[in-house]
Amino acid sequence: MPALYVKARQDRRVKRGHLWLYSNEVDVKRTPLDAFEPGDAVDVRSNAGELIGRATVSPNNLICERLFSRAADATLDVPLFETRIRRALALRETAFSTPHYRLVHADGDLLPGLILDRFGDVIVAQIGTAGVERGRDQLLEALENVCTPSAVLWRNDARARTLEGLNAYVEVAAGALPREVTAIEGDLRFVVDPVGGQKTGWYYDQRANRSDFVRWVRGKRVLDVFSYVGGWSVAAAKAGAASVTAVDSSEQAVASVLTNAEANGVSVDALRADASAALKQLRAQGAEFDVIVLDPPALITRRKDVQAGLKHYRALNQSAARLLAPDGILVSCSCS
Ligand code: SAH
Repeated sequence: MPALYVKARQDRRVKRGHLWLYSNEVDVKRTPLDAFEPGDAVDVRSNAGELIGRATVSPNNLICERLFSRAADATLDVPLFETRIRRALALRETAFSTPHYRLVHADGDLLPGLILDRFGDVIVAQIGTAGVERGRDQLLEALENVCTPSAVLWRNDARARTLEGLNAYVEVAAGALPREVTAIEGDLRFVVDPVGGQKTGWYYDQRANRSDFVRWVRGKRVLDVFSYVGGWSVAAAKAGAASVTAVDSSEQAVASVLTNAEANGVSVDALRADASAALKQLRAQGAEFDVIVLDPPALITRRKDVQAGLKHYRALNQSAARLLAPDGILVSCSCS
């Protein structure tokens, strides 16, 4: 097996359980990164030669390897994918009563570079690394063996793929994909467009936050900025908010907020607007809210954007805070 040697004293984090190595932690004199192709599987070894685990390499990425196993000889084959997916599935089946959830959450399910979102029988997959991309056929076979989905969609169009030298594509991997699928969260249902929607079509990663948030909204005036298709808005309205206003710059998203509100038997106001402009305008109108959610897209994706991004976050949060009634609550999110 080809090996990747970690610099002396740089191996503590990966030994303790973290899955990533940064390129400056690799002993490149001994094992130059440019000797690898993106997605190659390697033995990660400490400087003393001890096996730390098995990983795939992304030679051109700052995060240049991600461990997928601590076992010698492990490869990203059908049995490994099956084992990981079965375990993830068992956890989800314990936590949720219907098959609508993030089935695999990358590193958290020991499958770095892979997101699997499940909408009943339909599974939407997002591959983020060259390593998983190479194991795509094995992954699909494992997924079919464990979950027997009616359709699987590759939503492989995330921007981060370019860091891995991967092309962007959206393609039905198996089965017959319906035009719309449903995301169910508790007693809420949302129509999701897996091909044209953002990311996998739905933000399951905000689910736990949304369900925490609803206990603060009964009888309150709620503003949901960067609402997408209304995950927070509809949840708030359903939980008894006095009023709900959603803001998003996407016309499709705003239209879906209204559809989703109606489908759940509640009413929500939806504004198509730039968030900063809408916050200023609401302030000029003397509007006031008891609970405000800010869930912007990643404003910082590269180190060189940090300063501008921080300014932007500050301005957004400040504008939102100015719209809060006394003792109001601001829910501020960042995926930077
Ligand atoms: N809160 C949503 C996810 C939001 S994703 C949920 O939990 O489901 C970010 C959203 O911000 C997208 O819907 C995108 O259309 C919107 N957006 C991006 N730039 C914007 C801007 N300048 N003003 C308003 N909305 C914007």
